[in-house]
Amino acid sequence: MIKLENLSKVYRTDEIESTALNKVSFEIEKGEFVSVMGPSGCGKSTLLNILGMLDKPESGSYEFLGKEVSNLNEKGRSSVRKQNIGFIFQNFNLIDELTVFENIELPLIYTKVSSSERKARVNELIDRIGISHRSSHYPQQLSGGQQQRVAVARALVTKPPLILADEPTGNLDSSHGNEVMELLCNLNELGTTIVMVTHSSHDASYSQRIINLLDGQIVSEKRNKLSQAAV
Ligand code: ADP
Ligand code: MG
Repeated sequence: MIKLENLSKVYRTDEIESTALNKVSFEIEKGEFVSVMGPSGCGKSTLLNILGMLDKPESGSYEFLGKEVSNLNEKGRSSVRKQNIGFIFQNFNLIDELTVFENIELPLIYTKVSSSERKARVNELIDRIGISHRSSHYPQQLSGGQQQRVAVARALVTKPPLILADEPTGNLDSSHGNEVMELLCNLNELGTTIVMVTHSSHDASYSQRIINLLDGQIVSEKRNKLSQAAV
């Protein structure tokens, strides 16, 4: 599904040049759950943003679903992104003025999905994340764990084959964090490919493979013998 070859990213300001990714190469198969780990500043978010086509690499190749996408313009990237990728961020990124239902529905508003189909999909997801009684509540009325589950549902509502998660449990205590990780594992079991950036080796233990980054380079890769999901 994903194939990177010698992918590099350099951030430039007037005085400083900083290499965030340095010739990164790897492949991710459809249906995998992969963690990217490494210390702060090693390039994890940069990598995830490039995978999600929110940012462009400096050089190297990025094949997504069999097509080279590194040279697409913003319109092309946005179209691939909207059809195929759901994002989950550390700070939930929910809209405070919208209800749980409306937040989850949002990515569908500008698609061709009919309003009755929208309603059915959103309600099914609200059920799946276990907060049907809170459909008309606002994000601030929910716990952090519930807010992140709403963010997961919003990422899923367009049925994307790929989910990208940047430190999804970073703002949660461990029990809420585990709930979110279990939700991600369930999704993966249903066939969704997941790439997750994390500091936490506990969270990474839920995935099938761990890629370790340091100073913008892959330093090691490890396959989890038994992922947490299978315990
Ligand atoms: P991580 O997510 O692993 O903490 P990042 O991908 O955010 O790391 O950052 C990698 C490196 O790139 C860091 O040195 C960071 O300072 C730099 N960097 C990230 N974003 C920018 C930016 N927009 N402008 C300049 N430098 C950046
Ligand atoms: Mg980061």
